[in-house]
Amino acid sequence: MDDKLRLDGNAAAGTLGEVFSFEVTTAEYACNGCGRAGRLGGAMVYEVRELGTIVRCPSCDNALIRLAHNRERHMVDLRGMRYLTTG
Ligand SMILES: [Zn+2]
Repeated sequence: MDDKLRLDGNAAAGTLGEVFSFEVTTAEYACNGCGRAGRLGGAMVYEVRELGTIVRCPSCDNALIRLAHNRERHMVDLRGMRYLTTG
């Protein structure tokens, strides 16, 4: 049984939209691993069943965003990116 589901960055729009008040798919990031800059909608998303969402850089696979949801609270780890700008 595969507990991971790989999608594109647009798939994280609903989950990230619960945390951020701006349009996340057009928000731009710079990867802390390789320096790539791009829109979050073009990144790779992994939904890990019952654990959360991981958004990864399409160039180097660095985890840009780790998002967990537990008991009506969200925990967001943005250490994988140098910056995130609104779209
Ligand atoms: Zn990267």
